[in-house]
Amino acid sequence: MTTVFKFGGASIKDADAIRHLTPLIEAHRERPLVVVVSAMGKTTNKLEALLAAARDEGRRDDYRECLEALQTGHRQAIESLFGDSPDSPAERIDALFDELDAKHREHRRDAYARHYDETVCYGELISTTLVAAWLDHCGIATDWQDARQLVRTDACHQAANVDWPATAAAVRERLAGSDRVILTQGFIGGTAEGDSTTLGREGSDFSAAIFAHCLEAREVVIWKDVPGLFNADPRRFDNAVQLERISYAEATELAWHGAKVIHPKTLGPLQEKSIPLMVRSFETPDAAPSVIDAERRFDADVPCCILRENQVWVEVRPRDFSFMDEPRQHDILGRLVEAGLHANLVDSSAMRFALCLDDRPERLEGLIGALEADYDVNREEALTLLTVRHPQRGMLDILSEGREALAERRNATTAQRLFRSRDCPATWHIPEER
Ligand code: ASP
Ligand code: MG
Repeated sequence: MTTVFKFGGASIKDADAIRHLTPLIEAHRERPLVVVVSAMGKTTNKLEALLAAARDEGRRDDYRECLEALQTGHRQAIESLFGDSPDSPAERIDALFDELDAKHREHRRDAYARHYDETVCYGELISTTLVAAWLDHCGIATDWQDARQLVRTDACHQAANVDWPATAAAVRERLAGSDRVILTQGFIGGTAEGDSTTLGREGSDFSAAIFAHCLEAREVVIWKDVPGLFNADPRRFDNAVQLERISYAEATELAWHGAKVIHPKTLGPLQEKSIPLMVRSFETPDAAPSVIDAERRFDADVPCCILRENQVWVEVRPRDFSFMDEPRQHDILGRLVEAGLHANLVDSSAMRFALCLDDRPERLEGLIGALEADYDVNREEALTLLTVRHPQRGMLDILSEGREALAERRNATTAQRLFRSRDCPATWHIPEER
């Protein structure tokens, strides 16, 4: 049966990291093995910066500099891995950088999202070309596949929707039964017309789930630089602990509320086919993984804390003394959808509708401008949203001590409070049960 491995940017960030990956793949003898890989390190962020420069006539020098820096980083990894071996993919990678440069010229006057997808996909195209050459060089028979021809999507750029029947057909036709290591890209897809698309930032996990779903895989392993899933971000909470086992539904809730562990779309396709997801550390591959499957028994065992930073609180009020009734809420949420924004918390009252949103100026400014034409709008920036799943009694109050909450929401399983970031500690502590 098929196994799907996913390696994120951190696990291939440089030559040493790529060397490290080989034994993990070698140790897995069963085929088919599909290996889904992200762009190297922070490449996607750098490609986004490159894109911004490419769209600005006045920043041609910045553009060149960004492109060269990116190419140099990749060349260094190639140099270190291959030296002057004839297996070196240096020429192919240089050709991909030329292609990327040409794509920027071709698309720089197109709509942003289209230009984004046609260029940012090169992070993964380049990383997988490099890693495939390295595995071949190490004697591991590898089959490089272009995910844009496998993951078939609509043309909703930067957040493309998967065409499941077309994807399943393409994936099965090209990948099923392969006796090689199939190496492909996370995050990217393509339309029937041959345009490149992306699935949303951090979308490689979702890609792994798509391949697993279509091939009815035995399991998916996400290799990370941490030993598994935690009940809070260990960099922000000094007593975070690893979660041993949670359900698809619980993992989806955590991801949805902003836990940066797994892309929220990942769990659905796995749940449908009962494919377990293991989160393992590539640094300690023998340690017990975190397991996500259908079992719900352990979901409430450990409370989980999630921080969402860079939040904006937007309060919308009617101009006249009228109600913020359903038609008005509908209107406001419709505009939110149009702006491509997601509300992390919503609060409504007779004459006020308020939303907690990620501070994404490129989308937010348009939304607020549009709302201001018809409503009174207030906003407060630099906020942090704290979400606690399965809070124990009194826990939220201890976590909130000394901080004013601008908004609050609570139901049977989840409690949220919105704070000013300047009031929040650099390191949080999860209260012990009393
Ligand atoms: N490279 C993409 C990103 O950084 C996709 C991923 O890593 O999952 O968002
Ligand atoms: Mg990544």
